Amino acid sequence: MHSLQSLDLAHVWHPFTQHDEWEADGPPLVIEAAEGCELIDIEGRRYLDGVASLWTNVHGHRHPTIDAAIRAQLDRVAHSSLLGLASSQSVRLAARLAALLEHHLPGAGLSRMFYSDSGSSAVEVALKIAFQYQQQIGQTQRSRFAALSESYHGDTLGSVSVGGIDLFHSIYRPLIFETARIPAPDTPDPAAEADCLARAEALLAEQGSQLAGLIVEPLVQGAAGMRMHSPAFLERLLSMARDAGLVIIADEVATGFGRTGTMFAMEQVEIRPDLVAMAKGLSGGYLPLAVTAASERIFDAFRGPYTRHRTFFHGHTYTGNPLACAAALACLDVFEEEDTLAALPQRIDALRDALAALPSDHIGSVRQKGLMAGIVLKHDRPAAERIGHRVAMAARTHGVIVRPLGDVVVVMPALAMTPAQIRRVVAVVGRSAAGVLDGD
Ligand SMILES: *Cc1c(COP(=O)(O)O)cnc(C)c1O
Repeated sequence: MHSLQSLDLAHVWHPFTQHDEWEADGPPLVIEAAEGCELIDIEGRRYLDGVASLWTNVHGHRHPTIDAAIRAQLDRVAHSSLLGLASSQSVRLAARLAALLEHHLPGAGLSRMFYSDSGSSAVEVALKIAFQYQQQIGQTQRSRFAALSESYHGDTLGSVSVGGIDLFHSIYRPLIFETARIPAPDTPDPAAEADCLARAEALLAEQGSQLAGLIVEPLVQGAAGMRMHSPAFLERLLSMARDAGLVIIADEVATGFGRTGTMFAMEQVEIRPDLVAMAKGLSGGYLPLAVTAASERIFDAFRGPYTRHRTFFHGHTYTGNPLACAAALACLDVFEEEDTLAALPQRIDALRDALAALPSDHIGSVRQKGLMAGIVLKHDRPAAERIGHRVAMAARTHGVIVRPLGDVVVVMPALAMTPAQIRRVVAVVGRSAAGVLDGD
């Protein structure tokens, strides 16, 4: 075993990981470098990354424009605070994001950017802003939130409170606040959606006046295993929530920056959000950076003399980090220079065709929206056999990295992944599923 592998086993506590299994799986795969959409391990082996470094990578690794922007920023300053000071790159990025949001979500007025450094924090910030906003406009009885069943909004306690995945969240129940749960379908089936909407309507009629806001992962509930609903469902739900006086929070942490085929998933519906949480793809997948965008209407409720205590008392030490903001600005430059969105339909079609070509013996169904996909494995083995995990491990032996969510193998290529690479990722998942389930 390489010394880095034994040191990992001795000292690193991995996220979402049972270490008994991590150790039983043998020496961990240690990544040392990357190029484009390939990860390179300490032995120099290359792997096609089918999940874009946990859904973050956009234009590929070591993109010359983003690399150069970070290097140039290092020659100026790596970090300076936004508490009591402004900083050049955070100002530039805020203005750029405001223009981007106005272009893609016209009329929403999302012109205020609150910086943080993870998707969970961006959600936490959105929840606190929505709650405080309601308090400050006199809606003091609005103290809870509504969220979709099986939703995932991050791992801090506020975002866990609105999250609905029991496996992750149930042990923390005594620590978290109660959330009104709106059922959501796992596929955009019209009858299932109509049923969910009827229940949402009843819930809002009963509890709407107590609710401060509704938070949704628009169109795709990623961590739940790529559950999907139609734009029509989302639009109807948001419209009911708005009529009931709720602040609408779009969690675009996973769907933002081109993932669903449009810059933001919310462009596919007519109702505009009041708050938008962004993270994963924001810095191109380079550095931890998150933003909660707020409408000017929300922001105005926080103005007033200091003694009225309308201030948003929240902030993180590395808020608006200049290196991360420089990476994000460069990432947006690349979107323009390479016309990334225009190249998406071809890649989305390649993913669709590759999914359709999977042999059906071991695949129950596939779900896809843009470059987000879930391959649902079909088998009758007990959960203890961890079939999804074994399929992902088998894919590595064919040079492909994927990560399962239970029995759903997620395929989430970087926007830069070529159609040929996308086809290879999907074909390897199919071959790996056959290998594991046909028992070789
Ligand atoms: C990943 C994710 C988060 C949490 O982001 P972190 O950066 O991991 O804290 C929140 N919401 C959604 C929809 C996500 O996919």
